[in-house]
Amino acid sequence: MTKYILSLDQGTTSSRGIIFNKQGEIVSVESQEFKQIFPQPGWVEHDANEIWLSQLSVAKMALVKAQITAEEIAAIGITNQRETTVVWNIETGIPIYNAIVWQDRRTSFIIDELKQKGLAEKFKLKTGLVLDAYFSGTKLKWILDNVPNSRNLAKSGKLAFGTVDSWLIWNLTNKRNHVTDESNASRTLLFNIHTGCWDQELLDILDIPREMLPEVKPSSGIIGEASSGLFGSRIPIAGVAGDQQAATFGNLCLSPGMIKNTYGTGCFLLMNTGEQALPSKNNLLTTIGWNVNNVRQYCLEGSVFIGGGITQWVRDGLKFIDNSPEIEKLATSVKDNGGIYLVPAFSGLGAPHWDQYARGTIFGITRGTTDAHIARAALEAIAFQVNDLVKAMEADSNKQLSTLRVDGGACKNNFLMQFQADILNVAVERPKCLELTALGAAYLAGIAVGFWQNVNELHSITKLDKRFEPNMSPSVRQELLDYWHEATSRSKNWIRK
Ligand code: ADP
Repeated sequence: MTKYILSLDQGTTSSRGIIFNKQGEIVSVESQEFKQIFPQPGWVEHDANEIWLSQLSVAKMALVKAQITAEEIAAIGITNQRETTVVWNIETGIPIYNAIVWQDRRTSFIIDELKQKGLAEKFKLKTGLVLDAYFSGTKLKWILDNVPNSRNLAKSGKLAFGTVDSWLIWNLTNKRNHVTDESNASRTLLFNIHTGCWDQELLDILDIPREMLPEVKPSSGIIGEASSGLFGSRIPIAGVAGDQQAATFGNLCLSPGMIKNTYGTGCFLLMNTGEQALPSKNNLLTTIGWNVNNVRQYCLEGSVFIGGGITQWVRDGLKFIDNSPEIEKLATSVKDNGGIYLVPAFSGLGAPHWDQYARGTIFGITRGTTDAHIARAALEAIAFQVNDLVKAMEADSNKQLSTLRVDGGACKNNFLMQFQADILNVAVERPKCLELTALGAAYLAGIAVGFWQNVNELHSITKLDKRFEPNMSPSVRQELLDYWHEATSRSKNWIRK
């Protein structure tokens, strides 16, 4: 009798193993941080072996902690930091280079060359992505260009490329399965999101041998088995999705028009656009959400660079508070923002503004301004930025948001959630379980093996923590938004090019 799903949540700073029961509740969690390697300014790497070993270790520890044996686990679901690129030798199992992390900017010059050749539109049409060093394709090209003889080895089928999901599955299955899922493949700049295949023309442009690519599988379905040597008996691996897609699935944004926002250090918004891959006119990304039961659903995606991270600045930079949750008390000690608007363009502005020369600014300071006004303006800025992205998604999709679903560390802040509902003028729903990334991977795995019968059952077990109803007069909302947009435009184009 299987009673649980094991989720492997392989993030940028830590690996987590989480066990869920049939009610979608957490039974145990284990987590381990690993090394961040910064060889040069702008370069970020991970040791791929450390990723694997930390992930294996937390999975085993989670089982031990909950006193559960592998026989009681119905399936494993995997979710992962996206775009991070691993290349390994399939005979030795040894990576030929450190994993190049999504944040790494070393391939910006390759991106510039591609843009100069006028290829941005081609990549966008086929992959849904903007040309940026963020994605895997140019990182993979860089490894092949810089590790001696690697391209030849790859052509002769001796090397494998994978995103982190792929690397974990290869190790979990004792080197048997070299696979990835569609959501992860759609972040590589190599995958045609319309045909669901690796795109030969794009592979040729980046000079990437097809032989090294993983087979692309649906996000839900048995794609291999964790070997018995690891956990004591074999466990099917039945769900895989990149972290943001998994969080969207975990938040049950399963029909067109539904949006989730993750309030982490940055914010990630994804809107489900159903079976339609909508091209964005507002510089958002078009990406595959997941493929479940042979139905591929797409999402529009946008991100805010500084979300909850602004709280860290209020804590560590301004030293107004000792810990992140304290910001709520400080911000609500004043009745309003006192005319203060803070644009957290600390490293420029992302979608829909896209200005790398913008910088952080605080407007409206008077003799009466206090730390509390600034703390309040900081939280309000998170909600304003999310509002701007939601509006861009609504414009691209011609759909009105009806409810915003949320997760991530900063969504515990009640003031922020209420203000978000007020500014958007839609309800904000915060689920009880905030581990939605891991839960999404568990759901994908669980429905594949019949642990949960279908998505209706998932809806029935989802528990809401709190629903925040909008409660702000239209005139107040408009005034706040007008000032915010004015502040944003004045923060633009600040540093000299
Ligand atoms: P990540 O996964 O990006 O590391 P988390 O989802 O753990 O981030 O969210 C942590 C972020 O949220 C931090 O930047 C932290 O400062 C912020 N944060 C945490 N709790 C609160 C709170 N109650 N109010 C506002 N911000 C918060």
